[in-house]
Amino acid sequence: MGNLKDIARQIQNCTNCDLSKTRTNVVPGSGSSDAEIVFIGEGPGFYEDKEGSPFVGRAGKLLDSMLKLIDLSREKVFITNMVKCRPPKNRDPFPIEIQTCKIFLDRQLEVVEPKILVTLGRHSFLKFFPGELLSKSRGQPRKLEGFTIFPVYHPAAALHNPRLRPIIESDFRKLPELLHTEITESKNERDDDSCQLNFFEN
Ligand code: URA
Repeated sequence: MGNLKDIARQIQNCTNCDLSKTRTNVVPGSGSSDAEIVFIGEGPGFYEDKEGSPFVGRAGKLLDSMLKLIDLSREKVFITNMVKCRPPKNRDPFPIEIQTCKIFLDRQLEVVEPKILVTLGRHSFLKFFPGELLSKSRGQPRKLEGFTIFPVYHPAAALHNPRLRPIIESDFRKLPELLHTEITESKNERDDDSCQLNFFEN
């Protein structure tokens, strides 16, 4: 399985799709391998491609202010994207690019084992809920594939439409309580497991 650095190295060497031909830098992701929350955006933009870090442009500043709102910092979470290389001219990533890059996101999630996945915007939402509407699902946690997924609008959406900002803020404000619930639930499950073990040992 390796660690996040190994995965970053694999991404660095990746030439599995044409995005590798036009990238300046790969953008594997940043943050803690012990993060309880992973944020998944769409793909690197101009500044991310230049710096090799996710969400460092205007959308990133907005993401930072949302994190601050709930007393989180980038160091405590893990932030990544569906595709790890910038699509030319910031076009949407093609489905085949998302599919090809998926192995890296899957490996990152295996390493981090977060309690909550926050999908930022439509592309990462559709990875988990194909054919569904983000406008209907945002702000509501859902269990899937062993994760709790919490879809929110992409911060860049609020740059284009400021009326979305309070909606994104109110969704972010739900995260601390959701995390608390997840931690309590997994602790209870662990306690149940150890009770059962004791039962069998006796
Ligand atoms: N938008 C994204 O989806 N990801 C980034 O890293 C930057 C902007």
